[in-house]
Amino acid sequence: MNDILPEDTIYWQKLESIIRDLLGRYGYQEIRFPIVEKTELFKRSIGEVTDIVEKEMYTFADRNGDNLTLRPEGTAPCVRAAIQNGLLHNQVQRLWYMGPMFRHERPQKGRYRQFHQVGVETFGMASPDLDAELILMTARLWQQLGLDNVELQLNSLGTRESRAVYRQELVSYFEQHKDQLDEDSLRRLESNPLRILDTKNPALREVVADAPKLMAHLDDESREHFEALCGLLDGAGVAYRVNPCLVRGLDYYSRTVFEWVTDQLGAQGTICAGGRFDGLVEQLGGKATPSAGFAIGLERLLVLARQNLQPENRPHIYLVLVGEAAQKKGVLLAEQLRGGMPALRIMTNCGGGSFKSQFKKADKCGAELALVLGEDEVAQETVNIKFLRGEHSRNQETLAQNDLSAWLAGKLDV
Ligand code: ATP
Ligand code: MG
Repeated sequence: MNDILPEDTIYWQKLESIIRDLLGRYGYQEIRFPIVEKTELFKRSIGEVTDIVEKEMYTFADRNGDNLTLRPEGTAPCVRAAIQNGLLHNQVQRLWYMGPMFRHERPQKGRYRQFHQVGVETFGMASPDLDAELILMTARLWQQLGLDNVELQLNSLGTRESRAVYRQELVSYFEQHKDQLDEDSLRRLESNPLRILDTKNPALREVVADAPKLMAHLDDESREHFEALCGLLDGAGVAYRVNPCLVRGLDYYSRTVFEWVTDQLGAQGTICAGGRFDGLVEQLGGKATPSAGFAIGLERLLVLARQNLQPENRPHIYLVLVGEAAQKKGVLLAEQLRGGMPALRIMTNCGGGSFKSQFKKADKCGAELALVLGEDEVAQETVNIKFLRGEHSRNQETLAQNDLSAWLAGKLDV
């Protein structure tokens, strides 16, 4: 679990605001739900035989003995909140959330125990144009962030029924290759054989690659759905690769699944994962409602996008105040400037100090200008301006305090 310090939070804020703006442009609205939920919710939705539920959840009993879990993902809480608050009664919803998730994993680069996701969940839209919208929205985000090396992988999981037939075939295939499976896979062979396809063990790559393909078992409607989605992506010029082994770690998916993957982050290359989960609302006690969504891992996305973000939070002005009268006057002058120029970033020197020590602080904070008030300036109602950066660095001029706002408006981009 990481502390995120000011030198990094500016990048986080910039990334988050780009994402918020984009989601707003597509008509998505924010939902906020608690960080803890009943453990049962995650067991019922994610599935008992998944990495998350088997070994990754932070689960504890509260003072009443209720079993609670720090949310490992946002889909289940989002669906729970939507059902409980009546958001799904014959309504279409486009929702998003952003915040910390918790999984007790082995920490490594790109994999943490508290990490952050922005997630999108939609309800009430069954057709592939919605699947396309989700994917196009993410593609636009990568474009805005200047990322070019991300690959879209697509698959269809069909329906629960079509999967059942396939499951039989898969089990008999893996039964024949039992000697090549690892411990996890042998266990999954009993409980959830599709998950073997999702293994991260490179030793299993070959046996998995030769396994029967789910695509060959799709029901007609799922096939049409998938083809329509592919057609929409083709039309929009979004490239993709069909990956028949893409099954996703969570049990609740149906039909479309997709991931955006990069080779620039080592082993932790998935920055966005999503798909359709038409059965989940009903499974959690609501009325059957088609649903689809995705989640983006923000730590991983930030590593990729950081160099393109260029956030700016350095003050325009550092106010140097020497002497008691200047300290008093400075408080008022700074407030007056802030009142008149909402985009102005101005930092006041608090606690006095010599000219020299105050200028050091002014330089360190990266301000463009130092405004200086000493005894003389206060007496004459002027202000001395020193340029701290760029080609005019070390230049200075003196102005009447009354002319300051107009002068700044002409000089700064505020
Ligand atoms: P993986 O197969 O890598 O464990 P997952 O299937 O568990 O991924 P999801 O539950 O689909 O991941 O989460 C969506 C995204 O959230 C991932 O693609 C990734 O970008 C990010 N993510 C998941 N777990 C972590 C983690 N422990 N630390 C950082 N980011 C994570
Ligand atoms: Mg995982």
